[in-house]
Amino acid sequence: MLYVVPTPIGNLEDITLRALRILREGVSVILAEDTRTTRHLLERYEIRTPLRAFHAHNEHATVSKIVAELAAGASMALVSDAGTPGISDPGFLLVRACRQAGVRVECLPGPTAFVPALVASGLPCDRFHFEGFLPHKKGRQTRLKYLAALPHTFVLYESPHRLLRCLSELVEVCGPERMACVARELTKVHEEVATAPLADLLTAFGSREVRGEIVLVVSGKDD
Ligand code: SAM
Repeated sequence: MLYVVPTPIGNLEDITLRALRILREGVSVILAEDTRTTRHLLERYEIRTPLRAFHAHNEHATVSKIVAELAAGASMALVSDAGTPGISDPGFLLVRACRQAGVRVECLPGPTAFVPALVASGLPCDRFHFEGFLPHKKGRQTRLKYLAALPHTFVLYESPHRLLRCLSELVEVCGPERMACVARELTKVHEEVATAPLADLLTAFGSREVRGEIVLVVSGKDD
């Protein structure tokens, strides 16, 4: 059995009782994107299950070995640094390989950054498109134009040092009046959720140093 286990995106209290039980006693190994980050979480909850590195750089190379161990009867948990594995994080290749090999996979519901950002933004959330990170170079303009034409809200992940570039590109393709939201440091001490027309967000965030983790939510063309 492979358990996909979401972990907090900031506030360490955001972990379910079931996630703690599985990490503590349901598996023999925890596959972790960064073992140091996960060790911090495990220490907080006094969980002593062994950790093994599983990250984007070794994902391709280690998938078949892990699937062989799981097929032979091992139970493992997959976690990422924050949020849900597979969502802009390693996980998809392992889950697909498990399914192809007939290994059971259960994904626990739990933290992920885009859901609280979308809901707290106050922008329509009945339908939405999750984009995750935009490509830095090749294909970026094509994706931006595609997103700008969507009839419903879309959600981007962005790093603080690229926020201004992204906002100004969005002003170009969506127009300055399109409503959007910068959701920063969710669940952390300095959480900030700012919803305003794109041009206003660009002005506001252009006049200060921007830090922390960011989700950008942009309303749809027809909203
Ligand atoms: N697997 C994660 C999830 O389920 O949301 C996403 C991992 S991705 C590598 C990291 C990105 O998620 C950050 O660059 C940021 O865009 C977003 N993110 C993660 N934690 C966040 C937080 N506390 N506040 C705002 N955005 C966050």
